[in-house]
Amino acid sequence: MARLVLLGALLGALCATAVQGSLDGSQVEAGLGRQLTQDKPHEYNYNRHGIDWRDEGLDNCAGSMQSPINIDMATLNRGEERSDVSGLYLNGLASPAYDVAADVTVNAEQDMKITFKDVAQNNMPAIKIDGSDMLFKPVQLHFHHFLSEHAINGAHYPLEAHLVMGDASGNTNQLAVLGIMYQYGEQPDDFVRRLQTKTIDEIATNGAGYGETVNVTDLSVNIMKDVLPPTHHNYVGYDGSLTTPPCDERVKWHVFTEPRTITTGQLEKFLMITKRGHTDAIVTNNRIVQPIGRPLYHYKLTPASYNYARKGIDWREAGLDNCAGDRQSPINIDTTDLQPGAVSGISLNGLESQSFTFTDAYVNLEQDMKVSFTAPTNNLPTVNIDGNDESFRPIQLHFHHFSSEHTVDGMIYPLEAHLVMASQAENSNQLAVIAIFYQYGSEADDFLTRLHTEAISAQQGNANWGDNNVPINLPITFATDLMPSSTEHWAYEGSLTTPPCDERVRWIVMKEPRTTTAEQMETFKTATVNAHYAAEIANNRAIQERNSRPISSIP
Ligand SMILES: [Zn+2]
Ligand SMILES: [Zn+2]
Repeated sequence: MARLVLLGALLGALCATAVQGSLDGSQVEAGLGRQLTQDKPHEYNYNRHGIDWRDEGLDNCAGSMQSPINIDMATLNRGEERSDVSGLYLNGLASPAYDVAADVTVNAEQDMKITFKDVAQNNMPAIKIDGSDMLFKPVQLHFHHFLSEHAINGAHYPLEAHLVMGDASGNTNQLAVLGIMYQYGEQPDDFVRRLQTKTIDEIATNGAGYGETVNVTDLSVNIMKDVLPPTHHNYVGYDGSLTTPPCDERVKWHVFTEPRTITTGQLEKFLMITKRGHTDAIVTNNRIVQPIGRPLYHYKLTPASYNYARKGIDWREAGLDNCAGDRQSPINIDTTDLQPGAVSGISLNGLESQSFTFTDAYVNLEQDMKVSFTAPTNNLPTVNIDGNDESFRPIQLHFHHFSSEHTVDGMIYPLEAHLVMASQAENSNQLAVIAIFYQYGSEADDFLTRLHTEAISAQQGNANWGDNNVPINLPITFATDLMPSSTEHWAYEGSLTTPPCDERVRWIVMKEPRTTTAEQMETFKTATVNAHYAAEIANNRAIQERNSRPISSIP
């Protein structure tokens, strides 16, 4: 019993101290050391599943915002209705390249807590709380086995992992915890297997004992692959507490509703380690569900069929659709290497002076904020291709933000709009895309302001971030809303810059940039990070090889 009490103290101490200071391994270890010499350690075990903690008023365990809880999926509020707390932006955590630790310590006891020594410092998960973005740094990961702590529609799962994250700035003691369920299945979980095997091997070879903290080297943890559920687009968020004493009510909980899979044999290993760690340990380490008495929110995000985690380099490597072709876009425009007229004089003709006004527009409330519209068929702009004037009808407009796709002599603009136009020639699938750069300036762009106002008001109405084809009222007048004052442009033949990367695009890249502001860029970011978990802030494909394609300059 004495040993279990002491380990209880360790758990509570770590949770209580983990967010102070810089959160690196040495701070956490230092906090642990101080707590060991405290006069009055926390005393708890799981014999009554924590009912006694509440009964006896242990620490904050009798509070009104305690965790875990039962989640009744039928009574959830929409995530968008949560006014003071946003959803969780996983940022880098959801990227395949984000390993949070290379070597770790593992408590070879009840919860097999992994403490990260070495956490990536950039691209950390974020939650907007009371209007400001707060970054969270993964601190530790542990398990509740044989019974999950949270229940969904009254049902428990056999295992629940908790990824504990602390305020990366170290300025507050705010915690955010991700809860991940596991269900029984035929396939073992590869990460649980590595964790258990390495811990047991370490004990067998290096003399550390069960019930002790074991140094495990070479156990890297990739959160997306190793911890998150296979489709991590669905979770419940609420305000709650630590589920162990001191039960502090300072946790933003995110409980994923789709489980991972483990085998009964893997559960047996948790039991073996628990039993060897404490002679009188009971099989499960779950606190009983607590009274709710507060709103719960359901976040449902739309998965993207591709993402920008690797800027599309992976599309080419994987041979996705036509993305490995040799006439791909975007490219760098080298203004010292132009071949005038080589692409047979593409001409904008009247487009720059035309004023089409569309009122039946639809916007995608996500990464590229694509606006689709039905343009009239009369008075269409023409592009001169191989000596013939070909009519093109604008079909949609979208944006690449925080990094332009095309670059000019290596220079990147903060925003690039693409006006996509379809050939009106019979049986032609030819596209022409006009690219317009924006540079930072003091003046907001009026058209972007109107677009963003419409998008935000749609989102505050019936639409959600991530929805496609939301109707908006957005008249577009090309000459003033989109085109720069100069009609000078570069032209070349290339491809769509997103899968399927079809090589059927005449590119017209306007030389003169328009102007936007940092504030306007924030709205693109808001739409992007709320729409997709794995979203990167910038949605630009990496520059592609030019492969001796001519670029013409049209004055
Ligand atoms: Zn836990
Ligand atoms: Zn584009």
